[in-house]
Amino acid sequence: LSAPLRAEPVRAEQAPNSGAPALARVAVVGFPNVGKSTLVNRLAGVREAVVDAQPGVTRDRKELPAEWRGRRFLLVDTGGVDERDEGEIQRQVRAQVARALEQADLVLLVCDARAGLRPGDVEAARAVSRSGRPALVVANKVDDPRQLGLAQEFWALGLGEPLAVSAAHGLGTGDLLDQVVELLERSVGDRERDQAGNVGESAAATPPAEDLRRVALIGRPNVGKSSLLNRLVGEERVIVTPIAGTTRDPIDSEVEFEGRRFVLVDTAGIRRRGRIDEPVEWYARLRAERAAQRADVAIVVADAREGVTADDLRIAELAMRSHCATVIALNKWDVATCDLEEVKARVASRLRQRPPVVPVSALTGRGLKRLVALALELAERVHERLPTPALNRLLSETLALRQPPAVRGKRLRAYYFTQYATAPPRFALQVSDKGLVARDWILFLENRLRERFGLEGVPLVIDLRERG
Ligand code: GDP
Ligand code: GDP
Repeated sequence: LSAPLRAEPVRAEQAPNSGAPALARVAVVGFPNVGKSTLVNRLAGVREAVVDAQPGVTRDRKELPAEWRGRRFLLVDTGGVDERDEGEIQRQVRAQVARALEQADLVLLVCDARAGLRPGDVEAARAVSRSGRPALVVANKVDDPRQLGLAQEFWALGLGEPLAVSAAHGLGTGDLLDQVVELLERSVGDRERDQAGNVGESAAATPPAEDLRRVALIGRPNVGKSSLLNRLVGEERVIVTPIAGTTRDPIDSEVEFEGRRFVLVDTAGIRRRGRIDEPVEWYARLRAERAAQRADVAIVVADAREGVTADDLRIAELAMRSHCATVIALNKWDVATCDLEEVKARVASRLRQRPPVVPVSALTGRGLKRLVALALELAERVHERLPTPALNRLLSETLALRQPPAVRGKRLRAYYFTQYATAPPRFALQVSDKGLVARDWILFLENRLRERFGLEGVPLVIDLRERG
């Protein structure tokens, strides 16, 4: 694969020398063979691979200049671990991390997502946290979007959201570089504030956003996400406040639209276009999944000239699996060629969570107020707990309407229905015998539950419990 270069290498005349302030140093650490060297080369835009395919090859520590979004920094490949013996490797990794930490402004802890979480990763993460240095966890070797889930395991390192990349194929590296630059800017800002002796001033100026609902705007390229974003933030009268003071969400924005306040997740990602060399679908999917994981509700944007496509359905499914509520915005309604009722029927038959479909136009502004109101409504539902008596009334009515089918001559008895968790809502249905439960009947119950309590678009789980 010959993906284009990621970051521009720094030209000789720009290199740090006489009198210029020292470049920030980004140390790349991790177990041997996780792909540190490959990543450094990729991020620095070095074309010819300096990587030996053999595991554990000795290398000298290497420093490469890199640049992203006009910010220059040094990537430090700490390398130098060449032992095959486990104990010795661990000792050397420790020494390597310690060395890197001494001088780093930011640490990238690289792990092998295919190999999964290993004791060496945990140990390195501990050293990184103790140092107090800003750090990012990079889950490498995610070569295929279907493997994105592999990165989740590395949350366990306690260093925040693991970023899935494929250093070999240049996937996910744009997001990684965004985060690197963001964190470097922040740590420089912190240092300057420390020196000026007015720590915390900017944090105090930012209103708290914890109690606001979180909304993700996701979808395929060109469906109109950026246009919708512009509408929501009020074009030129920008009311967007980047939320400061949190390490994990540097790119979220607080938005006020038609009197409603919420947090729009990953605003930078919505706007990003044209400079990403990753395959479009890979990126769209990656961003959709990441944004949905941090949101209460996802607005899945589709193009009304095409209706809801198979890709749109897949993105909505991804959001649901991230336990995020979904609403489908059928954008470009001003030039629609699809039939709304047909689209709604298709969505209801194809998506288990049955998200509502709202026609909108980023161009004219039509439908946006309703879309936002509905999205925020669903976000509330995700966190709501339904009263047990109401659920049991629904259960009796459902049983009266349609009895569970008999299996091997025996009929299921359902005794009790209750909600035991929120976000996502989780229900328990107490039954006589789990072996008698027909999937169709549970779906019937689930759909009635959605209709009765306005849970269309809300991910929910019904657990079966046998009466003991
Ligand atoms: P280091 O020891 O951590 O510096 O790891 P290297 O960069 O030397 O890579 C170790 C091995 O992993 C090499 O064979 C690389 O080709 C391979 N590798 C690195 N990145 C990726 C990746 O994203 N996907 C896959 N499949 N292999 C990778
Ligand atoms: P993104 O890739 O999802 O962020 O899509 P953009 O917001 O960049 O929009 C892609 C194209 O669709 C642009 O040319 C927009 O002007 C156009 N577009 C976006 N929303 C609408 C709309 O509601 N109506 C019409 N007619 N065009 C739109």
